[in-house]
Amino acid sequence: MALLTIDLNALVANYRTIAATVAPARAAGVVKADGYGLGAGIVADALYRAGCRDFFVALTGEASVLRPALPADARLFVLNGIAPGEEAALVAADAVPVLNCPADIARWGAAARISGRRLPAAVQVDSGMSRLGLTPDEVAAIAADPGQLADIDVVLVMSHLACGDVAGADANAAQRARFEQLAAMLPPAPRSLANSGGAFLGGGYHGDLVRPGIALYGGAPQEDRSNPMQPVVAIDARIVQWRDVPAGTGVGYGLTSVADHDRRIATLSYGYADGWPRMLSNRGAAYVAGVRAPIAGRVSMDSICIDVTDVPHDLLVAAGHAELIGPHQSIDQVAADAGTIAYEILTSLRHRHARRIVGLREQEDATCGS
Ligand SMILES: *Cc1c(COP(=O)(O)O)cnc(C)c1O
Repeated sequence: MALLTIDLNALVANYRTIAATVAPARAAGVVKADGYGLGAGIVADALYRAGCRDFFVALTGEASVLRPALPADARLFVLNGIAPGEEAALVAADAVPVLNCPADIARWGAAARISGRRLPAAVQVDSGMSRLGLTPDEVAAIAADPGQLADIDVVLVMSHLACGDVAGADANAAQRARFEQLAAMLPPAPRSLANSGGAFLGGGYHGDLVRPGIALYGGAPQEDRSNPMQPVVAIDARIVQWRDVPAGTGVGYGLTSVADHDRRIATLSYGYADGWPRMLSNRGAAYVAGVRAPIAGRVSMDSICIDVTDVPHDLLVAAGHAELIGPHQSIDQVAADAGTIAYEILTSLRHRHARRIVGLREQEDATCGS
């Protein structure tokens, strides 16, 4: 089994970097999609110890699973609103739904009347991304009839940046202005606009709470600037065998990799069933003993062939494993080679890994004398 290493010290360092950057605004932790594939419980626990008290998931089901792992003073927001019939589950998980449309508001108001108390919620406005949130007309309708929110305790007014990862994008300032204008029409509440990218756009974007996700996990918050975050994830795959193949020999399904010189080909126990994009057929690389070994041929379900011709023989024999993500190859590099983003690389990782958690937990276990 391939080894997936998650460095909680790096995760916490990234949280602290963001928290320091956005202070006096607070930093939340976005742990949707099972903590971007790393394990929401483990990630949220580490972030809580680092001082994080606000967590975001996408779905009610995610909140129900995560809530028992969180202390009672942690707030758990559900980004995708209220699916009909999920009101009771949200209340049971002590979750704070993000109300994205008038129907969400109506559902949560009804749930509050059933509960016999005002229920907390975030209200999202669409400041220009056209994805989620109340339209300007819907905000105006609430401003004209605030009674719609009578049973709801609005604890956050939020929106989301379409181009937060591009520091130079004009759309950011336009969204910020629109957000402030719309938020002013709603009941006074703390405000939140920035994701990872927005956290690094300057104080004007921070509001009261920033919502970083990918940067916590080591991804570059902005594509047009260098990455200030520490890598959190490493993947090492076992080298099953290797062989020398003469010039003209095809490698892998479809024999799509053929060279005009002799090559040494190693086969890794890792494939698209583990989450490695098949798009990386004949693209990208692994690293063996720190030496780049390009992917040769198609990525199979359970195996990947790499060209280890440049790896010194004794190092290859001693290696046993190849690095797919780690010190030589970042999640952003893998994503770029695959024509996607680090978010998709991380959230595609499947359960077929041995997981090694290093950092926080390790120390804790040590202090417990285990
Ligand atoms: C996913 C998400 C985030 C986190 O975004 P990153 O780019 O990963 O920092 C923040 N806010 C909302 C509304 C999201 O959907």
